[in-house]
Amino acid sequence: MEKELFWNAVISNDKRFDGAFVYAVGTTKIYCKPSCKSKPPKRENVAFFRSPELAEKEGFRACLRCLPRSEKTDRQTDLVIRTCELIETDIENTLESLAERLNVSTGHLQRTFTRIVGVSPQKYKENRRLAKFKNELKQGGEIVDAIYESGFGSSSRLYENASRKLGMTPSKYKKGGKNMEIDFAITTTKIGKMIVAATGKGICSVSLADSAEDLLSALKEEFPNAIIRESDELLKEFINEIVENIEGDNRAIELPLDVRATAFQMRVWEELRKIPYGKTATYQEIAAKIGNKNAVRAVARACASNQVALVIPCHRVIRSDGSLSGYRWGVERKRSLLEHERSRSVET
Ligand SMILES: [Zn+2]
Repeated sequence: MEKELFWNAVISNDKRFDGAFVYAVGTTKIYCKPSCKSKPPKRENVAFFRSPELAEKEGFRACLRCLPRSEKTDRQTDLVIRTCELIETDIENTLESLAERLNVSTGHLQRTFTRIVGVSPQKYKENRRLAKFKNELKQGGEIVDAIYESGFGSSSRLYENASRKLGMTPSKYKKGGKNMEIDFAITTTKIGKMIVAATGKGICSVSLADSAEDLLSALKEEFPNAIIRESDELLKEFINEIVENIEGDNRAIELPLDVRATAFQMRVWEELRKIPYGKTATYQEIAAKIGNKNAVRAVARACASNQVALVIPCHRVIRSDGSLSGYRWGVERKRSLLEHERSRSVET
């Protein structure tokens, strides 16, 4: 399953995975980082390594185009991020259960976490509990923000490593997208008005509503400090691809994304993108796929915090009793999307 995730990162040149692993190509004996722009290799020739060193031990050479060695894998940072994710999924995790799941000793986890974050895992947990209590409405939980809130902030190391995993750095997010430039276009679809907004890196928002005014004011609210401008021409292809998905026969949207996400949300969203057109999955199934069948509620929250309708097809997740459950953009829209997909997939 991890390999699936890695392979997806490779074919989508996903920068956020740089540093997390490298991929090596058997036929050329060269290894690359996930975002390398070189021609995608055949799946069967690819092997994954957690670090450049491991790839080199197997006789692979670093690619000259993407310079994968410069992307240093930081196992300790990785360990800290994974610890935070586990705490986020289940705040009742103890130091022992965390260490067991991460396959490290409690002493090592305690020391590493405290050194990098600035507080112990126990203290971090207490802070999270308090923050959750204070702010139940904050959906999903921004792990990087959470790390900051817990006393971390002086070391830039974790910041850099963590922000690489996100579409947007947390500081930019906090300032409401300050200095970001966002282009948007609004169109009419058969399920209502749709806005598509993008930064220079990819789509940052896709929303549906009854009126164009509502869509635009919601975008401005989400990014109050960004420079926002209407650019119909620039976004024409993106819009067409999504509209063809809603109304026509485009079964897979393959567009670049620039979204804020915790590593947990990213993993859920990757799974959502694997649900085939015309099919549905339950929250339980997604939770099991990401390796934590108890995380059903966290999965539901991750679906609800999706910022890009259709591009990440959260509408394909339903309750285990077959009922539709909610949809951020209205359950009637979810129903018609699923009906449209079902009717198209029956035809072939
Ligand atoms: Zn390369």
